[in-house]
Amino acid sequence: MESIYWVLTWACHRRCRHCYEDRFRPYLRADLEAVVAEAERNAPLVLGNLPKRMTYRDPGGPDLPEKMGRVIISGGEALLEAVRERVTYPVIEGLVARYRDTGGVKVVLQTTGDLLTPAIVREVAQRGVWMISVAGIDDFHVGMEGEAKRPPSRRRSRQ
Ligand code: SF4
Repeated sequence: MESIYWVLTWACHRRCRHCYEDRFRPYLRADLEAVVAEAERNAPLVLGNLPKRMTYRDPGGPDLPEKMGRVIISGGEALLEAVRERVTYPVIEGLVARYRDTGGVKVVLQTTGDLLTPAIVREVAQRGVWMISVAGIDDFHVGMEGEAKRPPSRRRSRQ
């Protein structure tokens, strides 16, 4: 298996017009707890049903070397405060442990990037994330159009 894309949670802090799934949206209070609890319950079930190995060979024959496949974990927004410690971190740890003795796996964390901090980068790297894929910095994401996608210190003056 070369690649699996795993949606961890419906919860997202944005409401992008182009989003392909209505359930990716902000949730509050009891509704947020319900979607996080659902993700928390489902994560071990999904983990237990993933392939036994996450390796693959390029087309061309059985003599080619095996390569390490990847699992891309995403949301919604997997780094939301309510989701991160209860769902995302245990999933990262579970993936690394599951494939430790069977050829490994590259865990890719896909995020809007809005909530990334140096501490969170360290925390996910320590847990074994291979790549952080920042997918939300473009004109199609609500609140990130035009100059808004630049850090405040790098925005051009409007005058
Ligand atoms: S950030 Fe992604 S998941 Fe969230 S609303 Fe926008 S497109 Fe959908």
